[in-house]
Formats: sequence, C-alpha cells, structure tokens
Amino acid sequence: MFEQLKDQLSGRLLVPGEEAYNERRKVWNTAYDKYPAAIVVCQSAADVAAAVQFAKKANLEVTIRGGGHHVAGTAVSDGALMIDCSDMRKVTVDLERRIAIVEPGATLGDVDAETQKFGLATPTGTVTETGIAGLALCGGTGYLRGKYGLTSDNIRSARMVTADGEEIQVSEREHPDLYWAIRGGGGNFGVVTSFEFNLYPLGPEVLSVDVMYDYKDAKQVLRNAQAFLRKAPDEVSFNMMTFQMPAAPGVPESLHHRRVIVIAGLYAGDKADGHDAVQPLRELAQPISDNTGVVRYTELQSRFDLAAPKNVAVAGTSLFIKEFNEEAIDALLALLEQPPRSSLLVQFWECHGQMNRVPSDATAFAVRDASFLLCFDVDYPMEEEKPCKDWIDSAYKTMLPYSTRQASYLNTVQADPQIIRDTYGDNYKKLAAIKQKYDPTNFFRHNHNIQPQG
Ligand SMILES: Cc1cc2nc3c(=O)[nH]c(=O)nc-3n(C[C@H](O)[C@H](O)[C@H](O)COP(=O)(O)OP(=O)(O)OC[C@H]3O[C@@H](n4cnc5c(N)ncnc54)[C@H](O)[C@@H]3O)c2cc1C
Repeated sequence: MFEQLKDQLSGRLLVPGEEAYNERRKVWNTAYDKYPAAIVVCQSAADVAAAVQFAKKANLEVTIRGGGHHVAGTAVSDGALMIDCSDMRKVTVDLERRIAIVEPGATLGDVDAETQKFGLATPTGTVTETGIAGLALCGGTGYLRGKYGLTSDNIRSARMVTADGEEIQVSEREHPDLYWAIRGGGGNFGVVTSFEFNLYPLGPEVLSVDVMYDYKDAKQVLRNAQAFLRKAPDEVSFNMMTFQMPAAPGVPESLHHRRVIVIAGLYAGDKADGHDAVQPLRELAQPISDNTGVVRYTELQSRFDLAAPKNVAVAGTSLFIKEFNEEAIDALLALLEQPPRSSLLVQFWECHGQMNRVPSDATAFAVRDASFLLCFDVDYPMEEEKPCKDWIDSAYKTMLPYSTRQASYLNTVQADPQIIRDTYGDNYKKLAAIKQKYDPTNFFRHNHNIQPQG
C-alpha cells in the first residue's frame, strides 16, 4: 500500500514489524503505546508534503511528531500515518536579521546550542529534550518569558504544509490569519516545516536562581512568591516545583524522601545588576540550600534534564491561577496532604512581564492575565493508572475555582474539548473560522483540536 509513497521520499517509510518502526512509534509518555499504520521519517518539506498528499488520497488519518513530548501523546495514534519530523533538526542563525531558522524536529537543546554560539537566545522551555515544534505552537514558557514573552510570541514566520499538501509561507504579511493562529493554535493548521524565531543577546553566562526550601514552609514560600511577583522586574523569571527528594546516589542522606520546594530562575539582564533583583527569591523562607550564582545559560537550561521522568507513564494536568491568595494556597496544600504517589511533581511557573503584556487577542494564545501556571504530573506503573488519573482529575477540579477563566496550558493537559474551548476563550471563534478556511475536513485532528466552524 505504501510503495508509491516510499518512492517519493528522501526519508524513510517504516511499517509494522521493523525494529526502527517500534522505536519511532514510542513517545515520551509511555501510557500511549500506539501502533500507527506507518511512519514517514521526513528529511525535507517535500517529504512532509508527499505524506500529507498520500494520506489524503488513501483516506488515512495523520499525526505529527516533533519531539514526541506531549503528555497527551498526540504525536501517535493507532492506524494513523505518523509524519515524523524528528530527524529535521537543523538550526541556523541569521545574524543580520537576528533570527534563528529552526527545523521542526529540533529539540530545545539544539536551538540553545546553536544560538548560544553567537551569544543569542530565543525563549524556549526548561528541559533540553523537549521538541521546539509542539512547544512553540501552543505557547512555550521558559526563563525568558518575563523579558521576551512566550516562544509563540517570538515566531517571526513559518513555512508549513497545509491540509491540501501545499507548502506556504506564513508571516505578518503572508497568510496573516494563519500567522495569528499558529501562535498558540497548535498543530491544527498544517505541518510546520521551518520556523523563524526572534533572537536576543543573552549569555553565555547568566545569573541563575537555584534555591531549595523545606515543604513545611510551603505556605510562606507561596505567599511571598506571589507578593514578589507584583513588583518583579521583567528580567526575573522563575519556576517553583515541589516534589519528594529521591534516596538516590548524590543526594545527601538528610534530604532522602524529604519534600522540598525548589526555585529555579534567571535574571535576563546584566549579571552584575541582577543580585538585588533576585534576592527576594532567596528569602521566601529559610532555605535548605542556595546555589544562586553565575552559570552558563546552557547549563541552566539543562539543569532538570536528569530529573525529568523518562520511559514512564504519566498523568498530568494544568491550570492558570489568577492569584495564590490565602484561600487558593490552603486549597492546594490540603490537596497535597494526600499525594497519589511519591513521584508527584507540582510546578508553579510564574506569569508576568512581557508574556502578560501581549493583548489576549493579538495571537491565538489567549491567557495573558494569570499570575501562575500550576502543573500536576505523576508517573505511575500501569496497575496504578486509575487512582493516579483520578487524583489528577480531582486536583484539576479542586483548583478550578482559583483559575483564570478555567484556562489550562494546552502543552501540559489532556486534549479535552471543554478545556480547549475554555482556554482559547474569546479566541476560539476566530480559530474555528481559520480552521474552516485551511482545514475544513479536520484532517489535522490528533491535537488539541479546534473544530472547523461549519
Ligand atoms: C520533560 C518535559 C519538560 C517540559 N518543559 C516545558 C517547559 O519548560 N515549558 C513549556 O512551555 N512546556 C514544557 N513541556 C511541555 C511541552 O511544551 C509539550 O510537551 C510540547 O508538546 C512538546 O513539543 P514536542 O514537539 O516534543 O511534542 P510532540 O508530542 O511531538 O507534538 C505535540 C503536538 O504538537 C503538534 N506538532 C508537533 N510538531 C509539529 C509540526 N512540525 N507542525 C505542526 N504541529 C506540530 C502536533 O499537534 C502534536 O500532536 C515539557 C514537557 C515535558 C515532557
């Protein structure tokens, strides 16, 4: 069946039974153990176009794989044709235009490695193996968001193969409606074959915040972090995360099994000016440890690589929180009294500065008025799937009253139709109209789906 497609490709076509097929069908979240009809390992935009045209003719569904890291496993589906872009990883810096030209299979690590050669960076996320494509198309929040906004805010242009199999250029001038939609609208509108991202001077060394508090001080830490945020300069962006320390080699015995809150952040300005600005984050409570100091930007960006779960099933959800007031803090801490497993990771990514300054209707990414993004993730053995998923659902429901218009971060949540609508809010109608124009049959449906406006 696939012979005709195979002949058109510069990349490979993998079918069930091949070892490489078995490797390529795997995604980060092993709960999604799916068997696609075949996998097109693309080497070029022409391969992507051939795959789209073939799938349309053969009436096959398609999935798109960038880095394969979405917790909802949308990059793979039983019986669909997987358009695997993960071999297309080239990153090129254009110094004159101050942009990075990035292929869709690049990881965040690929992007940082190349741009840092020139002392430049674009906002990405915080674990290097994550794919840039999925991350950028649904937002993208890392340590540069306060100063430079989300990754999606920094898409200067993109090339993409649309549902009719044609490759087009998308920018402020070319297909401006699509340019609006892909900055937050995810993989709904076509397969991006190349991005252009804005670049800014940064590094190679930066002032990084790295503080650990005891979980018993969680209330104080959250309260003080919220207060700090009200006057935090754009240059300071930070993530907080609470988890139970493992009894692993290299971890001091005094920390084994201890619940902690870690603050990781960055001052995106002159290192010498940053110390005063980040000082409040070092005094949210009495720290257990404080390694705040100057590090290479690439070191900061890979700090959590080893801690990120690998080869495990994960259940996760997220909500944008309006404000961690006393009531919201109490609700959260009561919830965390009974974690589903010791592997529970709760993250609080602050939202302020440039990422909140972009008007909510300026791009598809609508959530510009939250003060924190709250993410819950738990990894589990399959026999514990149900209680873990149930706990995640109950965590979502418990925190919903404290959310910003019930909005979630679509990069860290299941593809639930109501959550998708709530998240896009007033932007959903416009997205549905653009979907109708470019993909009226909903050919690209394995994603956080926007229904074409019928
Ligand atoms: C360990 C880990 C750390 C993370 N850290 C962060 C972080 O710091 N900040 C943050 O914002 N997010 C973070 N995330 C979430 C991340 O943004 C999402 O997982 C994102 O989907 C990853 O992109 P991907 O290309 O790897 O995903 P994939 O699973 O490959 O793709 C997800 C979806 O994106 C779309 N897509 C992918 N490639 C293309 C393409 N070329 N064209 C069109 N559509 C495409 C498709 O709809 C696809 O189903 C993290 C996730 C993990 C697992």
